[in-house]
Amino acid sequence: MLKDEEGSPVENFPDRYIRDRTDGTLYMRTKVPVGILGATGSVGQRLVQLLAKHPWFDLTSVCASDKSQGKRYKDAVNWTLSTPIPDDTGKLVVQTCEPNIPCKIVFSALASSVAGTIEKAFAEAGYVVISMAKNHRMEEEIPLVIPEVNADSLELVKTQKFSKGGMIVTKPNCAVIGLALAVKPLALEFGIEELSVVTMQSISGAGYPGVPSLSIVDNIIPYIEDEEEKLETETQKVLGSVKNGVVEKYPVKISAQCMRVPVTEGHLEAVSIKFSAGRKVTLEEIKRAWNEFSPPVQELKLPSSPVRPLIYFEQVDFPQPKLHRELEKGMAVSLGRLETSSLFDCKFVLLSHNTIRGAAGGAILIAELLVKKGYVFW
Ligand code: NAP
Repeated sequence: MLKDEEGSPVENFPDRYIRDRTDGTLYMRTKVPVGILGATGSVGQRLVQLLAKHPWFDLTSVCASDKSQGKRYKDAVNWTLSTPIPDDTGKLVVQTCEPNIPCKIVFSALASSVAGTIEKAFAEAGYVVISMAKNHRMEEEIPLVIPEVNADSLELVKTQKFSKGGMIVTKPNCAVIGLALAVKPLALEFGIEELSVVTMQSISGAGYPGVPSLSIVDNIIPYIEDEEEKLETETQKVLGSVKNGVVEKYPVKISAQCMRVPVTEGHLEAVSIKFSAGRKVTLEEIKRAWNEFSPPVQELKLPSSPVRPLIYFEQVDFPQPKLHRELEKGMAVSLGRLETSSLFDCKFVLLSHNTIRGAAGGAILIAELLVKKGYVFW
């Protein structure tokens, strides 16, 4: 029987070994095997693209609905990205979303209509589930994580009751991610009492095929289902702090209005803030807080960490989706238009990439943090 380096039979550690398909040789994996649930959708495709040459992760499994199951990935997917489908992934056979795939971490980019039960089944079976769907985000024992904002909230997984090392970690709604990153340094330095946000969200945020072209070309739709509530509640949870194993929400009053606009990628948000500092906060102080924002996770130099998570532009008509969404490989939040406000203390505009920072890239960064912090064994 084949033994590993400690003399244990390798069959006990199937995830740690891979058999060469041509000559049957068994190799020990050096990368963590990962899978994608919902691999054929908008976010699933981004995950495939970003995982293609990942230094720590090896994409072994792609899963989707019954309609895609059994086909090669390249035949099942309606690929919409500008880079080609990675060869190795294109050849993988799409599986159904059942917890019997050969990997340790699963990224869930499932439609929310099915994500809840499938993600729980994977966690019960011992998988580390990193979810982009809304279903479990607000549950007490589920971390809702942006690594630069609240990495410490990962400790909530210790309160989860899944067996065999299984867990669920979520990332916030795509528009919440840009907002929370932009306001975190301001909340830390000055405190925030009230916040108003008006979002202009891209079409890809609605998945594929999403909003019909005749509805969105030459138009703006001033409604996105459930989005305003997510902006208000998830932001409070992400900015909150963990005390005795429970998140204490950040006590900010938030008013959100969300619009769907005819842009392919990138959410723009107009934000106004009233501080709780009890004194006048100058625009220079705000820019300094953004420029000097250096959260502890930056020191870990994770593969997907942007060098500059926040980038402020002085140009009067920046940031713009077309020009700035790809900065730092789509992981930066671009800021501009900082001014005083006659109703609030200040107002500004932010931009973030919804399928990279707001979804796939943000989820991969969480996975890197989990591995680096020793939460994942394989
Ligand atoms: P999408 O393009 O509609 O993709 C949905 C995926 O779910 C597809 O792979 C689809 O597989 C799969 N699926 C649907 N029904 C299924 C079933 N019954 N069983 C198994 N798989 C099923 O949606 P998306 O935009 O990628 O979003 C995915 C998730 O991420 C959603 O929960 C969304 O809210 C969230 N999210 C999206 C964004 C964004 O910017 N788009 C940002 C943040 C979070 P088939 O192709 O086989 O049908």
